[in-house]
Amino acid sequence: MESSIKRDDIIKRAAELMRSGGIMLADVCTLCGSPLFKMPNNEVVCPIHGRVMLVKTEEEVAEASLIGILTELEKSIANMLNNYLTKIRRGEASYDDARDIVYWLDAIERIERIKKALHKEEGIKSEKEKSEKESS
Ligand SMILES: [Zn+2]
Repeated sequence: MESSIKRDDIIKRAAELMRSGGIMLADVCTLCGSPLFKMPNNEVVCPIHGRVMLVKTEEEVAEASLIGILTELEKSIANMLNNYLTKIRRGEASYDDARDIVYWLDAIERIERIKKALHKEEGIKSEKEKSEKESS
């Protein structure tokens, strides 16, 4: 009984995802086994769990966790920069603070660069998969 309700729920949400431009993938959610959808913004979404990371190989697991760590790191740096902002507004910022801010901004820039490189790699991979499918 319960599982049939859940199934209806999956179908309903899947239909909603498709209406908003989602494309059903061959991959399924590792948590619930529902088909995954690729949204127009390239996010992979499970009808039940929402946004998920498509994880296949060990290398991709490492990349997925690296992106997660980088994102968290970026958030933490942004929070810290907010503290500097308070200091600047109070007129309490020193030369050392200014130098620290430059270093942290540099760190964010590097994080962004690494994330972009990881995403690009992903894009090339899926392009390759697509052309392999077309030629077969
Ligand atoms: Zn799921």
